[in-house]
Amino acid sequence: MSIADALRESPGADRGAVAGRAAVLSSPGGVFSIEEITLQKPRRDEILVRVAGVGVCHTDVVCRGDFPVPLPIVLGHEGAGVVEAVGAGVTRLRPGDHVVLSFDSCGACPNCARAAPSYCFNFMAANFGGVRPGDGSTPMSRRDGGAVNARFFGQSSFATHLIARERNAVAVPKDAPLDILGPLGCGIQTGAGSILNSLRVGRGDAVAIFGAGAVGLSAVMAARIAEAAHVIVVEPNPERRALALELGATAALDPRSTEDVVAAVKAAGPGGVTHALDTTGIPAVIGSAFQTLLPNGQLGLVGMPPPDAALPVNIMDMLARGVGVKAYVEGDSDPEIFIPQLVGYYLDGRLPFDRLVKRYRLEDINQAFDDTTTGKSIKPVLVI
Ligand SMILES: [Zn+2]
Ligand SMILES: [Zn+2]
Repeated sequence: MSIADALRESPGADRGAVAGRAAVLSSPGGVFSIEEITLQKPRRDEILVRVAGVGVCHTDVVCRGDFPVPLPIVLGHEGAGVVEAVGAGVTRLRPGDHVVLSFDSCGACPNCARAAPSYCFNFMAANFGGVRPGDGSTPMSRRDGGAVNARFFGQSSFATHLIARERNAVAVPKDAPLDILGPLGCGIQTGAGSILNSLRVGRGDAVAIFGAGAVGLSAVMAARIAEAAHVIVVEPNPERRALALELGATAALDPRSTEDVVAAVKAAGPGGVTHALDTTGIPAVIGSAFQTLLPNGQLGLVGMPPPDAALPVNIMDMLARGVGVKAYVEGDSDPEIFIPQLVGYYLDGRLPFDRLVKRYRLEDINQAFDDTTTGKSIKPVLVI
């Protein structure tokens, strides 16, 4: 479909409405169907974006499955594209700008006020509610007029077009490959941000990263940017271990063939690590990660655990070594600042996240989900 076609006013719709296609999920655990949709024109603080590409993140997989989101819905929260139209109150962006979409936040709570939007008090409503938090409306409808929830992470980017807020869109340089930049808005940002913003890894530090998916491998690249002396990866998949070494890991351990993973991590570093990051959410792995910490070490948690999982940590052990454990959301990123920084790292060759990307067509979204679930694809990106 040409842009001109896509931007034509659809018959019977609001003036300025836009026709497009989207991958709609209508039942929990169901398959996506590509449907003709109509988007309202952007409201005062909103922008209309023609999507160039969108990554598939683990959170999309979880929300297609058990996690309760309102149906029907368009998922997708790693979108990137070109601004086509802006609302009357938009000041930072203009049509033609290239943008990466990130998570949404309210902008009014204490954490938003202190530039920590990933800990927004209203994060759940803004990102998982599926509708505009203010009035419960959605900008998208099916051709029969039925509403489709289309504010997932303020974007719902498994679509040719989307409505986002100016607040969750970040302008990026036009010399970067727009079709694959979307994952900078969540998965890459989470991995790299956990190392650079949350754990604040520095020169000479020793880092252990558990799990080498898109988040873990982004953490590996960031640890090299931070000039960590030891970057130790624990990952059962041999191809991912090999890729981790190519991306800068100093050691890559197979937990399935290593009898004592904790001892092996300690041996690969200076008797332990200053920082550990768990991307798996597996309680036993988190327990091992905790044991690898040197005194005053820090363990970050970013993996999605089973709903009833508890921390397998001995409190006296924690006190004796003075170690910390904290969950991090979106790598403590303020996307407006951090995403351009990540694009800069990519352009100067220090964050080659394109090595993780496999491209799919929007029509092949169900295959992309299968491939990320089975581990065949580290970071699927639907190129629109
Ligand atoms: Zn907030
Ligand atoms: Zn995500």
